[in-house]
Amino acid sequence: MPELPEVETVRRGLAPHVVGGFIDDIQVGDSKILQVEPHRLIEQIRGQKILGLTRRGKYLIFELERHYLIFHFGMTGQLTFRDPNRSDSEGFKRHPVTGLQRTLQHAPDRHTHLQIHLRQGGSMLFRDIRKFGKVFLIEKGEVSVFFERLGMEPWTPDYNLKAFLQKFGNRKLAIKSLLLDQSFVAGVGNIYADEALFAAGIHPARKVRSLRKTEKESLFEAILQVLKRGIEHGGTSFRDFVNSDGDKGNNQEELQVYGRKGESCHRCGTLIQRIVISQRSSSFCPACQPRGGRSRAGKAPI
Ligand SMILES: [Zn+2]
Repeated sequence: MPELPEVETVRRGLAPHVVGGFIDDIQVGDSKILQVEPHRLIEQIRGQKILGLTRRGKYLIFELERHYLIFHFGMTGQLTFRDPNRSDSEGFKRHPVTGLQRTLQHAPDRHTHLQIHLRQGGSMLFRDIRKFGKVFLIEKGEVSVFFERLGMEPWTPDYNLKAFLQKFGNRKLAIKSLLLDQSFVAGVGNIYADEALFAAGIHPARKVRSLRKTEKESLFEAILQVLKRGIEHGGTSFRDFVNSDGDKGNNQEELQVYGRKGESCHRCGTLIQRIVISQRSSSFCPACQPRGGRSRAGKAPI
């Protein structure tokens, strides 16, 4: 599932192509992903200028003149830009048998559920194989209510150690479950939760209330570090994620525990294990992240 670094990667790739442009035509495939009537979406956004492209947690936000058009990528959502000026050698290949020109990643197919064509040329294509993605059209005045329940946004003043420590409370739930709760820190999902817990040396099943203050402080920093690394490497393409050019990210090669069950820990050589917490799989190193917490100082390098 695209998490904060993947959505941010898409945002950075799309922004230069679309901000300042005008929405011309819209085509809807399977309207299941739309959280607004298709005809209303088309009528409302046609002709509007794209004033900005921002992100909140895992949501990508197009600021239009009168609305916000908001995407959530669900499990397999992909938002790519199809540039009409892109030459063959850059993005197009000929089919080896038919010889027909096509794009490998950009051409609309049966999984493309929304196409937004821009007046200056070029289109955004939203493709989603499993169709858990969602597209919202929100009136400008309603956006703060829309995001009301989302938690702290990394790299904003809201994400600060004092607020972070306060949010833990005296809860019995597992720390992994808290990290997946979008009302805690927005944008962290299964991949970066596992990576942050490894970086902080915390077992994913530890009860929130059992964590020491120093462990919480380590986790506060670790979350920022694994998210930052994810963005720097263009996101994690474990399965479906692609950036706005249709290319895969590189962060899967940087992962320490996620998806590495049965492989050796890069730090200590112990085999990575996987357990299920709240119906989500969690990968961890049993030596670097002991169930009972650390008895001595030191934590895994990031
Ligand atoms: Zn280890």
